[in-house]
Amino acid sequence: MSRSRLRTSAIGLVACSFLLLAAGIPSCSGNVNTAPGVSTVSRTATRPAATATRTLAPTPRPTDTPPVQPTRTEPSASKGPAATARVVRVIDGDTIVVEIKGQTYRLRYIGIDTPEPDQPFGREATERNAELVSGRIVELEKDVSEVDRYGRLLRYVWIGNLMVNRELVCQGYATVATYPPDVKYQDIFLQCEREAREAGRGFWGAQPIPASPQTGDCPYIGNRNTKVLHYAWCSSVAQMKPSNRVCFATKEEALVQGYRPCKNCRP
Ligand SMILES: [Zn+2]
Repeated sequence: MSRSRLRTSAIGLVACSFLLLAAGIPSCSGNVNTAPGVSTVSRTATRPAATATRTLAPTPRPTDTPPVQPTRTEPSASKGPAATARVVRVIDGDTIVVEIKGQTYRLRYIGIDTPEPDQPFGREATERNAELVSGRIVELEKDVSEVDRYGRLLRYVWIGNLMVNRELVCQGYATVATYPPDVKYQDIFLQCEREAREAGRGFWGAQPIPASPQTGDCPYIGNRNTKVLHYAWCSSVAQMKPSNRVCFATKEEALVQGYRPCKNCRP
């Protein structure tokens, strides 16, 4: 729940209590949150708070059978207010163009990062994304931010009960990239990334990372300035000055030299 919503609730409670005293009404529970533009009370109750996202159960995949938790919350029930859109173009693994009421918008998936199209596995990530969403009618869920600094809509993209952002991480085509304050599903993304890595799905199974003109034979690349270590396909490497790049054949080699793993590609 955002701070402003909390404040609205608190004001509602205070106002409500005051009215109660004045009118002598015994209870006003369930009546605290009726601000315009905010969903109804019952819907609000099913909205995931930051701590509730842990109970969002994984969607079943044909390749494995994740254990179903007894306290399972259906993903559809956990979705926040959503808008319907049509996917008109897939730009890369984490960016698409959608049409909403005749207007088109660039949209960046929240919470994940895929290799750029010219990086190893970038083409595969784009293709996988296209297989999932191309031409589809999708539901868009906002977190906190409306757009990123490039003006792209920031959204979770749902097809029925399947969240595309999460699916790309689960299948090993995306890594978790957390940009506060948009962190609603961070925990389930991280859990999925661990599973994908351990199962060797997608690019996690493509070891050693294929050589490219950019990466040569370096599966790991460190930044000699920041002392952060990345997988060669990490989008941070593309933005790194070539003079700052340090090649490592193994992660251990970098760690003993004082490098720490990137939080996005998580080598
Ligand atoms: Zn990285």
